[in-house]
This record gives sequence, C-alpha cells and structure tokens, in this order.
Amino acid sequence: MNMKINLRSIERMAEGQVRFWILVEITPSCWIWHGTVDGNGYGVTSYTGGHYQAHQLPYVFGGWTPKRTMPLHHVCLNRRCVRPHSEHVFPVTPSGHSSIHARIRRDTKRKEWFKDG
Ligand SMILES: [Zn+2]
Ligand SMILES: [Zn+2]
Repeated sequence: MNMKINLRSIERMAEGQVRFWILVEITPSCWIWHGTVDGNGYGVTSYTGGHYQAHQLPYVFGGWTPKRTMPLHHVCLNRRCVRPHSEHVFPVTPSGHSSIHARIRRDTKRKEWFKDG
C-alpha cells in the first residue's frame, strides 16, 4: 500500500480545529459557539477552505460530510450549540426533521396562546 502522508494538509486540519475549539465554551450541557453567527443565529465558519455551519464541524472533524439526506438537528434548540450528542446536535432524516420542526412551531404557538390568555 502506498501511503504518502501529506504533512501540510494534516497541519491545515489541526490549525483549523484549534481555531474552531478556542471559540467554543464547554458547559455540562451545551457546547456554545462564540464565533460569527448568521442572520438566523447559526454559527458560521470556515475549515480547510470550505464554509460550514459551526455545529457541522465536530462531525466534519470525525470524517462526516454535510448532506441534505441527513441534516443535523439541534435537539437542545440552542442554535449556537455545537455538541455532537443525541441530546444536542444530532443527524435526523429530512422527513423526520420537517415533522420535528412542525411540532416545535405548534408547541411555540400554544405557549404564546397561554401567555396571552
Ligand atoms: Zn446543546
Ligand atoms: Zn432542526
């Protein structure tokens, strides 16, 4: 097997990961992104020349590629959370994702109702 190690690309990955993690606050629950956020409140950043949402990166570091067929959902509902965990940022199916968000919208509406009445 011809395994040629590209030291420069390993250095770029290591640097990118350090630049990411120094902006993350680890708490016992959420791991909170303190870098740039977009208009929707999601963290955004770059890594080895690509643009990503911050919560995607811990999965990318583990070899995962962002794909529409398996979106990452914020189970904890904290858009700045980047913790790869079943109670925080976790992959779901696209149809499961739509129904989860439909339910969240319904619950939010119901709460607003009770608040008013
Ligand atoms: Zn979280
Ligand atoms: Zn979601």
